[in-house]
Amino acid sequence: MQATPSRDTGPEKTLRSTLQRMGLRFRKDEKPIDDIDCKADVIFQSAKVCVFVDGCFWHGCPRHFRPPKINTEWWMEKVRDNQERDKKKTKLIKKRGWVVLRYWEHAARHDNVIKIAERISAIVRERLDARA
Ligand SMILES: [Zn+2]
Repeated sequence: MQATPSRDTGPEKTLRSTLQRMGLRFRKDEKPIDDIDCKADVIFQSAKVCVFVDGCFWHGCPRHFRPPKINTEWWMEKVRDNQERDKKKTKLIKKRGWVVLRYWEHAARHDNVIKIAERISAIVRERLDARA
């Protein structure tokens, strides 16, 4: 079975270009917080908002994750580890005053990407307004 790349796959790119078209400026694929070893897909540094697009396979989407037939136990454990890590990192980043948004890869695909981008944009603008 072929491993799915976890970064820069379709949905992240689509989401980023949609956000760009909406006039938002952000960084991509960087750590929101230097001393927390966790890269987000989209980072709004001054609004302190970061976005993760979680791959349905690697992050164990309840709708789409099916463990491979070979080494099933190993894969299940690997995905469980990933989920645990996701949860832990989300908590750590939130503790530092950030908003952490996570979307499933399947949700970030074409039909929904505008809705998601609008939601992100609203949150970012609200945070920036609150700061000003
Ligand atoms: Zn999914």
